[in-house]
Amino acid sequence: MAHQPREPAAPFQTHEVANQVPPLEDRNLFDDNVALVEALAREGAGWAHERACEVGAVWGGAPIRWGFEANEHPPRLKTFDRYGHRIDEVEFHRAWHDLTGLAVSHELHSLPWTCAEDGAHVARTAMYLTAAQAEGGFACPITMTFAAVPALRAQPDVAAQWVPRLTATTYDPVLRAAGEKRSALCGMAMTEKQGGSDVRANTTVARRLPGAPGEYELTGHKWFCSAPMCDLFLVLAQAPEGISCFALPRILPDGTRNAFHLQRLKDKLGNRSNASSEIELHGAWAQLVGEPGRGVPTIIEMVGHTRLDCVIGTAAGMRWGVANATWHAAHRSAFGARLADQPLMRNVLADLCVESEAATALAMRLARACDEAATGASNTRAAAFKRLATAVGKYWVCKRGPGHAFEALECLGGNGYVEESGMPRLYREMPLSSIWEGSGNVMALDVLRALSRSPEVLTAFLDELDAAAGADARLDAFTPALRDEFADLEAIELRARRIVERMALALQGALLVRYAPAPVADAFCASRLAGDAGLQYGTLPPGADVQAIVARHTPQPG
Ligand SMILES: Cc1cc2nc3c(=O)[nH]c(=O)nc-3n(C[C@H](O)[C@H](O)[C@H](O)COP(=O)(O)OP(=O)(O)OC[C@H]3O[C@@H](n4cnc5c(N)ncnc54)[C@H](O)[C@@H]3O)c2cc1C
Repeated sequence: MAHQPREPAAPFQTHEVANQVPPLEDRNLFDDNVALVEALAREGAGWAHERACEVGAVWGGAPIRWGFEANEHPPRLKTFDRYGHRIDEVEFHRAWHDLTGLAVSHELHSLPWTCAEDGAHVARTAMYLTAAQAEGGFACPITMTFAAVPALRAQPDVAAQWVPRLTATTYDPVLRAAGEKRSALCGMAMTEKQGGSDVRANTTVARRLPGAPGEYELTGHKWFCSAPMCDLFLVLAQAPEGISCFALPRILPDGTRNAFHLQRLKDKLGNRSNASSEIELHGAWAQLVGEPGRGVPTIIEMVGHTRLDCVIGTAAGMRWGVANATWHAAHRSAFGARLADQPLMRNVLADLCVESEAATALAMRLARACDEAATGASNTRAAAFKRLATAVGKYWVCKRGPGHAFEALECLGGNGYVEESGMPRLYREMPLSSIWEGSGNVMALDVLRALSRSPEVLTAFLDELDAAAGADARLDAFTPALRDEFADLEAIELRARRIVERMALALQGALLVRYAPAPVADAFCASRLAGDAGLQYGTLPPGADVQAIVARHTPQPG
């Protein structure tokens, strides 16, 4: 019989691709996030709604692809140029520059320092929480630049030179002297080999330059210095008066390179689009910021804001995990039914949604405290609340991040374990916010420090809980038990995590019973406050309205 030519080969000859989920792309990451949309208006920045929508539309498009590219092509250290001159540069993929440039153009690094509207911290938080869903790495220099501004203001002449550049909305990645730059980014270098949490153990030495007031030469090392292509760094070093804060530019005013040498880049678990380096300072020129010997209080102005950004970044990651998990379950079937319609999967998804909404509500409330502390009439009380609640939130939300990402990843089944889904990257990113800028124990101890130094912070915190009194019997029962924790100060350090965890749960509960829809608040109070839940996600009690919770958080088909 004559040979019969076959039909042209189909992509697959054995099967049709079925029951795979449509890609979650070209979304509006702000509009999709109903809890965030509500919080923006509630916390005092309704004026920024349209702007946040624009940010959501942009970041839900190409930046998601850039996030993959920037991680597939991680930064490379170029210690020397081709002729052997030391250059100490890091080469980033184009996608990194695109992400960073977009973030700068959206003022994620600056809005509260330039915007006259009330609620600028809330507006920035909503936009940052939206953008950071696409990718986490670029957020590091954005956060540090943002947070450096209040610390730099302790030194008006240095601030006058740098703040206009650090708040500019153009992105200028070329290393040049400050005078030639349209805009600039700022990093921080505190951690040394022998001590990170304990920065008082820093050994980097600052030598005053004779005849040049405020100018020093820094010699020593830093064990972690992220985003080392920034134009400026806030650095801690030992001056004759004690540990002090310095502004150290990469490029000197005459255009030559400062003695800031990159030893190597860290090979990190995650956050791989961003470079984190080990550096040596060989008599690098720097200017004093704030009073000599008062470096820690000076840089704490920066740390307060970076810690809030750790909460925002984790809330962003949780939201992205929820968006992917609920989307997948809405479009994938097993055993004859959509995953999203199966009771046990609904319980898992709803539990993840509740955690994500609690994190978002707390991030946005903290942002309002920043706004009120800066401008509002009740600013003393707001500052006290902000001081304590930021530390509480940094501890708790960041601790909850990795487990949340893992469970969200598992909702995608095997696809979730594969890099193309983006979930492994999310999972690897999550522990960083907990370690950086105050690891778990350090944050718990920071809460105790704040309580012992200024009792009014506890009053402000408890006032916030009282505002929700009577709304839910489980919250009403939880709060007195929390107060009892402070009655006995014996062995309080041993109990620090336990106390801070309860403070966080009470605060999140108070926010949700006041502002979230009943199903979300009810599930939170039953599981997190009344203890009617297991140790894993997906153990909300019978009676929780899991369908309503999941529906609220699921991106709708566009
Ligand atoms: C990816 C990445 C990027 C970073 N980028 C920067 C950067 O740009 N600039 C910078 O300065 N630093 C940076 N860091 C460093 C980071 O801030 C520190 O690693 C962190 O503060 C912890 O310090 P450490 O590593 O010295 O750990 P340690 O201080 O040795 O702490 C180790 C553990 O002990 C716990 N601990 C510490 N003290 C106590 C105590 N009194 N009681 C109980 N437990 C305690 C801590 O919670 C932690 O779990 C970065 C870190 C990472 C991972």
